[in-house]
Amino acid sequence: MARYLRSKCKLCRREGTKLFLKGARCYSNKCSLERKNNPPGEQKKKFRRKMSDFGIHLREKQKAKRMYGLLEKQFKNYFKKAEKMKGITGENLLRLLETRLDNVVFRMGFAPSRNAARQLVNHGHILVDAKKVDIPSYIVKQGQCIEIKDKSRQIPIIHESMESHKSLDQFNWLEVHAEEFKGYVKNLPTKDQLPQEIDDRLIIEFYSK
Ligand code: SF4
Repeated sequence: MARYLRSKCKLCRREGTKLFLKGARCYSNKCSLERKNNPPGEQKKKFRRKMSDFGIHLREKQKAKRMYGLLEKQFKNYFKKAEKMKGITGENLLRLLETRLDNVVFRMGFAPSRNAARQLVNHGHILVDAKKVDIPSYIVKQGQCIEIKDKSRQIPIIHESMESHKSLDQFNWLEVHAEEFKGYVKNLPTKDQLPQEIDDRLIIEFYSK
């Protein structure tokens, strides 16, 4: 799968918000955004101009896409899928993104970033209901158990992440049993358990044009 290989911190500076792409560094005073909160390179001048409505909608879509580490086509496919589902498209979209297996592994604190979580999944370190699942885009379901494989429990990045992980009330749709290297999907995230920093209405408007 194609991946973004350039500076991840530049993406945060471009979007003007923390996207939490670099694990522990994002929570420390080494975070580039805290030291230099302006868009990178030539974008600096453009940023000073008033943004058009299209620009505002585009930036929100880019922010969400980058936060979850997706490519354009993947993100658009999630939108199309969300549109076809019952309920509110914006909520459906965020729920689909949140319930990706790589995101769940990250939210449970088993990896310091979504990118690291994706690698753990890709390399077969994650079990879902006791069966290996190596597809990061796998959508978890209510009641499922997400677990680190026995043989993989010594991986340093997992330990470091678990030690520094701070569970947030907002993500209490997940229940983590850190001592057993596992967690459960208690329920699918409700509206107030979805990431509040993404304005899904702006994304809908972007795709409605
Ligand atoms: Fe973004 Fe993390 Fe870099 Fe800060 S350290 S700018 S949050 S990727």
